Amino acid sequence: MPNLPDLPLQGLYGDLILDHYRSPRHRTPVSHADVEAEEFNPFCGDRVMLQFRLDGQGRVVEASAQSEGCSIIQASASMLADIALGMSLAELESLDERFRAMMQNGLSAEEWNHEFGDLHSLQVVRQFPVRIKCALLPWTALAEGIKGFRSKS
Ligand code: ZN
Repeated sequence: MPNLPDLPLQGLYGDLILDHYRSPRHRTPVSHADVEAEEFNPFCGDRVMLQFRLDGQGRVVEASAQSEGCSIIQASASMLADIALGMSLAELESLDERFRAMMQNGLSAEEWNHEFGDLHSLQVVRQFPVRIKCALLPWTALAEGIKGFRSKS
């Protein structure tokens, strides 16, 4: 499956995306994951497997995002696994909602920066609407994983 050409990523935001792409965080699989989902986007060959282990309080203590495909999916997956550590599933759902709103409707840079950590750099992807799907794929896996976890617990 041929990948789409990578975006021209420049500047501070581009550097952050490329940093996560070249040195992805949390790629080691989680054994006995509580939350787990895999998503695939045939459009550009993106694939992601997201896994979390929760502690007794329902907070993420171990996170893994194994992804392949373009730079955007890999950076978004790495950033999501990074920010998820220490969060509850309800907090992650709320972050998911605000992240999607930010990607689809846009927020000013000031509104993004603090809350989203490195994720704020993904706003550059909004200049390439067809690639927003790449940025959102790990978040679709998050929503599916949470749904699956709730249905079995
Ligand atoms: Zn992609």
